[in-house]
Amino acid sequence: MSLNVYNSLSRQREPFVPLNPPHVNMYVCGPTVYGHSHLGHAKSYVSFDAIVRWLRASGYQVNYVQNITDVGHLTDNADDGEDKVIVEARRRGLHPMAVVDTFLKSYLDDMDAMNLLRADIMPRATGHIPEQIAQIATLIERGHAYEANGSVYFDVSSFAAYGKLSGRSVDDMEAGARVAVNAEKRHAADFALWKQAGAEHIMQWASPWGPGFPGWHVECSAMSQKYLGETLDIHGGGLENQFPHHECEIAQGECATGKPFCRYWLHNNMCTLNGQKMGKSLGNAISLKQVFTEGSEHLERTFEPVVVRHFILTSHYRQPLDFSDAALKAAESGSYKLRDALRDVGRAAGEAPAKARSDKIRSALDDIEQRFADAMNEDFNTAAAIAVVFDWVKQARGWVAEDTARDDLVAAESLMQRLTGDVLGFRWAAPLGDGGDSGKQDQLIQMLVEMRAEARSSKNFALGDQIRDRLAAIGVDLRDGDGGTTW
Ligand code: ZN
Repeated sequence: MSLNVYNSLSRQREPFVPLNPPHVNMYVCGPTVYGHSHLGHAKSYVSFDAIVRWLRASGYQVNYVQNITDVGHLTDNADDGEDKVIVEARRRGLHPMAVVDTFLKSYLDDMDAMNLLRADIMPRATGHIPEQIAQIATLIERGHAYEANGSVYFDVSSFAAYGKLSGRSVDDMEAGARVAVNAEKRHAADFALWKQAGAEHIMQWASPWGPGFPGWHVECSAMSQKYLGETLDIHGGGLENQFPHHECEIAQGECATGKPFCRYWLHNNMCTLNGQKMGKSLGNAISLKQVFTEGSEHLERTFEPVVVRHFILTSHYRQPLDFSDAALKAAESGSYKLRDALRDVGRAAGEAPAKARSDKIRSALDDIEQRFADAMNEDFNTAAAIAVVFDWVKQARGWVAEDTARDDLVAAESLMQRLTGDVLGFRWAAPLGDGGDSGKQDQLIQMLVEMRAEARSSKNFALGDQIRDRLAAIGVDLRDGDGGTTW
């Protein structure tokens, strides 16, 4: 079956056909780096990470670009208010770029912890001021933008398709925007491409319109087109940014080139905490660092990154997701069940008889692989794919208990490593026989088992017991049997 995706632009599920297969040019709006990443960031970037992984597993060559916003994102998310980075810089008594570097590192640490693949290119807005100025100049030249008092605005009346992504009419937008009328704008729904900056404004650049800084929206059309071409295959982002941010990107991108800006728009839904909207202003925006290690008053305890990843993927990316202790604990139990099943199948394979494979297991594995692919091909339905994974867990428990051929267990393990490791991106903090680094870890444990045996044979029982207890403390139980010590 081929891949179908829900396209926010057409509001329907469509067969996925990239412009230039097997290449897929994909852009996802990255974070504005003025604070630690929270659960909402995790939901968005884990979802798109699974999408990229599935596209690659399906044979596509994905060119994945995710920007870093370090200037121009104002506190009201549109044309007014202060730059979020500058507000934080003032609060901390730091240069804005020190704030950006601090939280960019923090973001990458959190995403690495959840085993996200880094985007191929992560362009920063401040590193692409000339590209943004060039796009704005083109828009003015083509009659889609105008200058007023050193600022430049996009003229929404010049682009008949404005509103096609969000389904809003310009009349509705103008009615909404009238609350705060900006005298420089010709129409209330016009949006800023460039903002004039006074001498006191610390982040500013020279431009044909005088000193200023770019509006938030223009970085994404300028940088995505620079690295991926005039028409993107996929643009991803949060539902909350569909309007105005993504609508404005389309207007800029299409009016600057005369070509369609993007073929498929994918939007991930938002998340809540204990049924409540989550937000900095609401005082319940839990940072990922709190969830992973520091703890938070909103959660009973911490959870390791793979558990958060697992929980996010148990729901479809277009569905809202509610975080709670109970939900995270359930995800944790599922995640560890899977980890342990992988470990046990791997261990059992080491001891299983070398005999002919069973047709029954072979076809059971083919069926699992097919159903997993069908789920992912239906708009990246990770929730359904994980249900298939747990069907494997159930069957694999039986295979381990039966007198199963080594090659069947090896095949069962490698299939699931591929689906859960490569595609779903699960990586546990302490992998016990689950592939990856575990080879080295197995060798280390085996070395300690042998040292303990040596200690005991030279009557140093205290050291032997110490090795056993220390291993038990990190979850490795030694069992002494007739054939030696196993763990
Ligand atoms: Zn963006």
